[in-house]
Amino acid sequence: RGKRAFIAGVADDNGYGWAIAKALAAAGAEILVGTWVPALNIFETSLRRGKFDESRKLPDGSLMEIVKVYPLDAVYDSPEDVPEDVKTNKRYAGSSNWTVKEAAELVKKEYGSIDILVHSLANGPEVTKPLLETSRSGYLAAISASSYSFVSLLKHFLPIMNPGGASISLTYIASERTIPGYGGGMSSAKAALESDTKVLAFEAGRKGKIRVNTISAGPLGSRAAKAIGFIEKMIEYSYVNAPLQKELLADEVGNTAAFLVSPLASAITGSTVYVDNGLNTMGLAV
Ligand code: NAD
Repeated sequence: RGKRAFIAGVADDNGYGWAIAKALAAAGAEILVGTWVPALNIFETSLRRGKFDESRKLPDGSLMEIVKVYPLDAVYDSPEDVPEDVKTNKRYAGSSNWTVKEAAELVKKEYGSIDILVHSLANGPEVTKPLLETSRSGYLAAISASSYSFVSLLKHFLPIMNPGGASISLTYIASERTIPGYGGGMSSAKAALESDTKVLAFEAGRKGKIRVNTISAGPLGSRAAKAIGFIEKMIEYSYVNAPLQKELLADEVGNTAAFLVSPLASAITGSTVYVDNGLNTMGLAV
């Protein structure tokens, strides 16, 4: 049997989640995705109407099949945690079972188990504010959506992950070096995510023989990145200063993810792997 992957954080064909889904599909995996509830309608409609058909193309000419799209809001673990205003919000009211616990239960009921868990999501409502101007609630919201969301996903999916399986998340160098403009506690959230990668690698390794790694990706003009506001500048900076002076393709991150969750990487866990044309190694912009 081929492997089955659950990829949280796919809502269009521009981001890293989509590229990872494609790389895993090309390697023969069955693809389930978790899509943020407010983005669900437009994503499913676009998918159905063939808007993504061009970018669904795999190297062998076939089209990536997304077997099922699950609504997900990774900020909530179970229904008791959902505030009334969210529950009754019309973007949420039309969907059900979208807390992390319920999504995992539904996947278990419909598919039994998974082999690969991908976390490709982040959110920081105050990302455009410097850390010194970030509110407590903005900071905590960034950590909740971008870091604890991974702890929660792994916690709830671990029981249905086959031994030998693996998980992957996406991080950014702002966790370890100052990137002015990546604010709102998002740098803090990525630092937490990277530290948690080590602790969770130990815990999930011992508990379920599951590997946990994170990819520190270079800049990509995704929907989320555009919301931060200076992504074009970052891409240009990387192009000028990285050891490899070429555009960073989402597929390069996708391919690395496919490697890391495959048996080829069977001894790699707890690692932060840079996929950034080498930019992280530079100490001086030239
Ligand atoms: P993206 O917009 O494709 O992905 C982010 C996704 O998160 C979106 O689909 C959004 O709907 C989803 N999301 C937000 N809040 C959510 C929630 N509460 N529950 C469920 N889903 C939620 O953008 P991307 O840049 O590909 O981001 C994917 C990952 O890559 C993120 O962790 C991001 O921090 C990381 N990353 C991005 C870059 C970059 O330059 N784009 C660089 C390094 C790391």
